[in-house]
Amino acid sequence: MSGILYVVATPLGNLEDITLRALRVLKEVDLIAAEDTRHSRKLLLHYGIQTPLTSYYDQIEREKAPRLVEDLKHGKSIALISDAGTPGINDPGYHLVRAAIDAGVRVEPIPGPSAVAAALSVSGLPTDRFAFEGFVPAKSGQRRRFFEDLAQEPRTIIVYEAARRLDDCLRDLQEVLGDRDVVVARELTKMFEEVLRGRAGEIAAELRQRLGERELQGEITLLIAGAKEPRPVAPAETLAVALERLRAEGMSLKEAARALARERGVSRRDVYQLGLENESHEDAPPAVESKSGADD
Ligand code: SAM
Repeated sequence: MSGILYVVATPLGNLEDITLRALRVLKEVDLIAAEDTRHSRKLLLHYGIQTPLTSYYDQIEREKAPRLVEDLKHGKSIALISDAGTPGINDPGYHLVRAAIDAGVRVEPIPGPSAVAAALSVSGLPTDRFAFEGFVPAKSGQRRRFFEDLAQEPRTIIVYEAARRLDDCLRDLQEVLGDRDVVVARELTKMFEEVLRGRAGEIAAELRQRLGERELQGEITLLIAGAKEPRPVAPAETLAVALERLRAEGMSLKEAARALARERGVSRRDVYQLGLENESHEDAPPAVESKSGADD
């Protein structure tokens, strides 16, 4: 009989945020696979849990998963935990869960905290539908493209962002998506918990004024109001005509593709390709007329 792989959520900060079932499972399993054993030891010590620990972090995920699956197949039960929140949600876990499923091992969730759900629940933004987009890219160019791709997203958007990049992130967000309503959920469940709600520009200004030269600290989950309604599109103007117009106004193909993708919620790559095709047709020599003539 194989053992069970338990995927156990642990606190985001406040050690009381752990379920009774999670504590029992962590006590009863043969092994705990933890993202950072030193970090998790504090939690386990707090609850008097002495189960053996093994490390399971990003860099060794793929290599270590088969060994843990072998243990599971030999009847050991394993609890997977990350530093905070739910394993696998932008944390190690996916490869082990996948490998266990492929090996026919039972996988059980022990649900609990996740920054995504915690932040959404207090955001005041619509909670009925949301899109979780993981970490915002660190570089400005990629970050802007990331937001461009989300420009028409009507659901509440949730992302993880590093505190030190929040100011740059809000600036790019405002430029690409407009001055949307956003919510900055910082240090949830911890001593300096705060939730800032307002327009991206207002929040950026408030933080700049408060911090001066200092850097913002802590863990941040950022929520962005979804797009209200599709931007108006001139009905008679096809994509090809709009592209031609922007090119005639002096935009490069790249800029025009980006602008149209944002405006119409279509793929930038498709518009770019359309532009390339149209431009190559324009450059092509005129088609040879048939000898018999078109009207024959
Ligand atoms: N698996 C985790 C979960 O379920 O929440 C997320 C792990 S991800 C590596 C860590 C990111 O989650 C942080 O960089 C931050 O964006 C967000 N986060 C974690 N703890 C948070 C907290 N207490 N308050 C706000 N955001 C938090």
